[in-house]
Amino acid sequence: MRSKVYYCSAQQTYVSADETLPKKLEAILSKLEISNRVKDESVAIKMHLGSNVGYSTIHPVLVRKVVEAVLDAGGKPFVTDVLSSCTDAYKRGYSQETLGCPIYPIGGPDDKYFYTKQYKYKSVEEWLIGGALYNASFLIDLAHVKGHPSCSYGGAIKNIAIGGLMGKSRGAMHDLMHYDKYWFYEKCKDDKKIKEIIDSCPISALTIDKNDSKEIHIHFEDCNQCGKCLEVAPKDSLKIDKINFDTFQVGCAISTDLILSTFEKEKSIFINIANQITPVCDCFGFTGANILPDIGIFGSDDIVAVEQATLDEIKKYKIIKENVPVVMKLQKDVPHPLQELHGRLKDPYLVVNECETRGLGSKDYELIDIMPLKEPKFGAKIFSHISAH
Ligand code: SF4
Repeated sequence: MRSKVYYCSAQQTYVSADETLPKKLEAILSKLEISNRVKDESVAIKMHLGSNVGYSTIHPVLVRKVVEAVLDAGGKPFVTDVLSSCTDAYKRGYSQETLGCPIYPIGGPDDKYFYTKQYKYKSVEEWLIGGALYNASFLIDLAHVKGHPSCSYGGAIKNIAIGGLMGKSRGAMHDLMHYDKYWFYEKCKDDKKIKEIIDSCPISALTIDKNDSKEIHIHFEDCNQCGKCLEVAPKDSLKIDKINFDTFQVGCAISTDLILSTFEKEKSIFINIANQITPVCDCFGFTGANILPDIGIFGSDDIVAVEQATLDEIKKYKIIKENVPVVMKLQKDVPHPLQELHGRLKDPYLVVNECETRGLGSKDYELIDIMPLKEPKFGAKIFSHISAH
């Protein structure tokens, strides 16, 4: 059976509050039958609370809609995120007063509240899952959709795969990209040549490894796979290889699997808010210009379906070139707009495929537009909030 993904476009037919994202989010929560599902449940609303001066995480007005839906249904909601983002969340408008429920750091106030799951994948053997998430009985994965420097895309999967882990595990996940060897010193021992390779990168994504002067280190987050370094490097000395990019996403699928296994079946829902889509993730601590139009809200019981639907919808749009940071050169002839920004080898669908392979959901979805745009009636009032006198 195809998984249902409820959707509302960010666009309005009428200039009316009833057709804006808060109301559309309410409608999606209703379709997901929150009112029948969360009574007496301890509901973790996992979201990114941003950092520093970022203001494009999910707006408190929207978060409050989710909190109120849970409270109205008799659930016990709390918002959770990593400690550093919780500590100064009030500076970005998130507090118990604005959201209507407490904010708990995922690993407790001292960052020591976690559970360990064993699973060997390359350099990672154990996965430290935040206790606030682990001990909740119901999950609302409330994700802001944006670009991401490691894999080109961040949505519902990354929100828990990285944001549900303790700092040590988050670091280990990023280090996975360096597990498979990409620099072969024995093929290039000449210091002058090594410097030439490093200097060839137009965006300084190459450097000498801080622990080993014979090793070249690639900052994979920066690398857009332009291939300029390969033109300079002697044969077989350097690889810009798919496997280094894929490992991060496979790690995200494993983490998602481990975290979702702590929730009973049908006790998790997934919401992607695809507006203010910035080039990089919310951890960066700032908000750049949006590089895609606001697209809308997607909600489902199926994490795979909601991610597939979101990515498919994004694919219909073009990158807003005028809003792309000048240092980010757009890549040509790539299958998805987010790969234009981050490079061909950062395939945003890879983690979705991996999650499906692990049995976490289905890419076969039915997109149900619950507030389709319509032709306005002839003579319709434009501004419905202005009453007649
Ligand atoms: S492929 Fe391009 S961006 Fe990546 S390290 Fe090489 S030169 Fe830099």
